[in-house]
Formats: sequence, C-alpha cells, structure tokens
Amino acid sequence: MKSARTIAPGQVEIHESPIPAAGPGQVLVKMLSVGICASDVQVYHGKHKYAKFPLVQGHEGIGVVEAAGAGVAHVKRGDYVNIQQQLACGSCYACKKGRHNVCLSLKGIGILADGLFTEYFLSPAWNVIKLPEGFGIDRGMLVEPTSVGVNSARVARIRPGERAVILGAGIIGNLTAQVCLALGAADVLVTDIAGEKLEIAERDGIPHCLNTRELGLKDAIGQAFAGNPPDLVFDCAGVPASIHSALEVAANASRVVIVANFKEAVTFEIPSFQRREIAILSVMGTVKESSVEAIELLAKGKVRLDGVISRRFPLSRMGEAYQYVDDNPATVMKVAIDIAPDA
Ligand SMILES: [Zn+2]
Ligand SMILES: [Zn+2]
Repeated sequence: MKSARTIAPGQVEIHESPIPAAGPGQVLVKMLSVGICASDVQVYHGKHKYAKFPLVQGHEGIGVVEAAGAGVAHVKRGDYVNIQQQLACGSCYACKKGRHNVCLSLKGIGILADGLFTEYFLSPAWNVIKLPEGFGIDRGMLVEPTSVGVNSARVARIRPGERAVILGAGIIGNLTAQVCLALGAADVLVTDIAGEKLEIAERDGIPHCLNTRELGLKDAIGQAFAGNPPDLVFDCAGVPASIHSALEVAANASRVVIVANFKEAVTFEIPSFQRREIAILSVMGTVKESSVEAIELLAKGKVRLDGVISRRFPLSRMGEAYQYVDDNPATVMKVAIDIAPDA
C-alpha cells in the first residue's frame, strides 16, 4: 500500500509498505478522502513541538471498513466510517471525564502516530465511528472540523436564544457559526478580512458576515445585533490581535472561547477583563461525543458545506497540496486528498 510520508520539514514522499492485518479489537480501514488541517500544515513545516519524522500525517478522513478484527461488533466490512483522531489511555482524570482530547498520554493520529494519508489505516475499534447510509464522501471527510465546531459550542455551553460572534471565517469559524445556529443561537455574526471566505459563510446561511477591514469589530457587532451585546465571542483566528479584540468587544459577564490554536505567546492586562467578569474558555480539538453529534447535524442537513472544499489532489501529489494551502491563505477553506474512488 502507498502512504504519503513526511520525511523532513517540507518534504513528503510516497512510501510503499505491506497492508497490515486487523488483529483483535482493530479495524482495517481503506481510506477514501482525507482533508488537510491547519495543524497538518504546522507539522509539515516542522513547527509542531512534539511531532517527529518520518510521519504519515492526516486525521480528517472518511474510509470504508476493509476488515474488522476479532471482538469488533459495531462495524463490519463495507461500512463507511470516520476515524476519531485521539489515541487516549482511557483511564486518566481527563479520559474518565470523557475528555480524551486532553488525555495525559494522548497521541494524536497524524501528529504523534502515523495518520490517514495512506491507502489503508489500522485503527483501534474505539476510534472508528460508523457513518449513516448515503452520508457521502465530502460530508464524511468534514466530520472532524464540524466536530470541532460542535465541541466549541459544547465547551461554550451555548444556550438557545444567545448571540454569538465568531472571529475568523475559515473552515472552523464557518462550521462553529453554523453549529451555534443549529443549536439554537438567536443570531450569529462571522467576521474576517478575507472577502472570499465571508462570501462562502454567506452562502452557507450565516446571517451576518462582515469584513473588519471595512467596518470596525465593535461597529460590526452593533450593526449585526441591532445594539444587543454578544453572549459569546469565539476566537477562530488565533492571533494576538484576535484574542485582544475578542476580550475588548465581549460584553460584561459574557464568555470568550478560544478555539484556534495559538502559535505565539500573548500578554494581557488581566484587570481589563477580570473587572468585567468575562469567562475565558478554551477548546482543544474535539471529543468522540462531539463527533457523533456532528454526524447527526450533518446527516440532518443542519450544517451546510457549500464552497468549503477549495481543491482536491490525489495522494501522489501530497507535496503540491501542501504548497497550494501555503500559497492561498486568503482563500483556502479545506483541501481534500482523494485516496481511492468511492466504490
Ligand atoms: Zn483537524
Ligand atoms: Zn487518558
């Protein structure tokens, strides 16, 4: 079987190896399509603190079960599946609370363990989630980013009737906004400085999509919510300016949710948000429960995916696909790597 293996920062090769067999408690999955995540790009450039090469990257994928090992009952050969990213211990404090995404001995598939940019992936049965009949390849590929949106809304404890501002109209911002609406948010505003991403957000039915290059964030919120304060501000941009703006525009007694992965340190005047009692919550990827909920929302058509797949590449052109993401930061939402055609 062929795998795209990152061998050094910015260098990927196609590696041949034998197809593994599914042992007890394991599932062999034939990969169909896998998305490139922002975290994959970070790893690819050697900017992830713990990732080591050679490494098969990728964690946002749909596949079809090739073989289920002994003792695996929830999936069988021919089932379409999503693969949950975390290899977790199941017994530490966080795992016992269902928060295996912050397990003490966590190994992320595609980051600290070989991932999904491969023809066949051997997975622990726990990580394999069955998709509904007729779910579709693209929806299956986008379960993980949708799940991050669900997890963000869960961590935020969003309540029906609330108003949410989402900073950043990239794939995670877009999906977080749509999940908030699906879970009963009264109104949602998405902001960005990239016009094309805002157009996609509009197409996906997000009611307010405003360019903060043209209108300051405070004014944008005022305009979108007719003067009502936001209950929640999600930072899906992840730069010092975005988190500072989030804290600045957050209403007194409201919540700010950090969703994007920050790559640099940020300093704060703590009293500037403490004296307004703003709750700061942080989200690290997703958990299995949120993936299951994401699958339900996608199956019911409550999250739309119009325009979110920017381009597709075959596995043999993995290096070009990374280059494409690097070259088009203002327009890329999700790049898909197609590994095998749908049977
Ligand atoms: Zn991801
Ligand atoms: Zn654990």
